[in-house]
Amino acid sequence: MEDWIKKKIGLDKTQRLTREAISDYQVKKLKETITIAKENSPFYRKHLKGVEPEHIESISDIQTIPFLEAEDIRANGMKMLCTGQDEITRIVTLSTSGTTGKPKRIFFTADDQELTIDFFHEGMKYIVNKEDVVLILMPCKTPGSIGDLLARGLERLGVKTIPYGIPEDLTKLSEILRSEKVTSIVGIPIHVLQLAESHGTTEDTRIKTVLLSADYISDSLSKRIEDKWNCKVFEHYGSTEIGYGGAVQCKFTRGMHPREADIYFEIVDPDTGLVLPDGEFGEIVVTTLTRKGMPFIRYRTGDYGRWLKGNCPCGTVLKSLDKVRHRIDDEILFNGYKIDITKLDEALFSIDGLCDYEVKIVEDKGKLRLKLDLNFSVGEGNLTGKKRRINR
Ligand SMILES: [Zn+2]
Repeated sequence: MEDWIKKKIGLDKTQRLTREAISDYQVKKLKETITIAKENSPFYRKHLKGVEPEHIESISDIQTIPFLEAEDIRANGMKMLCTGQDEITRIVTLSTSGTTGKPKRIFFTADDQELTIDFFHEGMKYIVNKEDVVLILMPCKTPGSIGDLLARGLERLGVKTIPYGIPEDLTKLSEILRSEKVTSIVGIPIHVLQLAESHGTTEDTRIKTVLLSADYISDSLSKRIEDKWNCKVFEHYGSTEIGYGGAVQCKFTRGMHPREADIYFEIVDPDTGLVLPDGEFGEIVVTTLTRKGMPFIRYRTGDYGRWLKGNCPCGTVLKSLDKVRHRIDDEILFNGYKIDITKLDEALFSIDGLCDYEVKIVEDKGKLRLKLDLNFSVGEGNLTGKKRRINR
């Protein structure tokens, strides 16, 4: 993605991309974002009181800015807007699981959506080419949804796309793989695994690449898809708040390279809020550098990750983000113990044929026990999605 980022930060092709050039650009865009936010948003005017762009000299000065919490978004919504409502082309409502709190509403302008299409266009260049047929198993019916923006990015590469949406019927999908000669799939890990299990390998299976996103991606699950289809699995990290696209693996699949010209990422200690050194796990905090409608400044994502130390074999100066897990969904408390569901994922999906599992906390003779339901069949051609549905 280096040439793309060079262009975005104002370097020409002959100039070398350096960490310093990226940081200088990020400082400039951060100052612009703060200025625009304070001028246009009643929420940010109050929230960023005392934060003056002229006091920001290096990107580490970002740490003097207060965090933006999910609660701030729920409570303020439209007060965070930095453009007129007439410029908003898409609103996404994110309901909160398990609470009765207000949903989060995220606003995008057409320019904000274009940033995502452009990133998908660039990020997919390393995964597919003009000859490919890409099946998109992400929400795509609404204009501006993740699958729709991805399809638009792929169309710029001249790739044929099949925007399907969230899958339900595996038999139907198997038929599409055959009839449309699908060579690449983008989807949620558990869905693609179940499709691989149910479809299997036939003479006309042509899957070369798979891009997984939107959930924790265990190595064991990826390996099973790769083995089944003799294909290569890539990982992506994104969320609605950051405009869907965040970071994607290059062909060396070591870590995910972030779109550093659009988003500034920090990894912070969840308790102290202090920025952690490379290699240490913490909460991912994002600042959008180019978003117009609803910029996010130091937003605590609730996602956990870390920067990988050392360089990617591709030789880029861009950072490499390790696998991301989701704080709320990937952790359960049981008898005072914190259980990390991602570790269960790694262990359980290495079992040949396992398609899904469910964790339950059950009462047995007055004691609480953790019960695992393992599912080795995908039933009547229908997908199951029990994983992570924790019954208490
Ligand atoms: Zn790389």
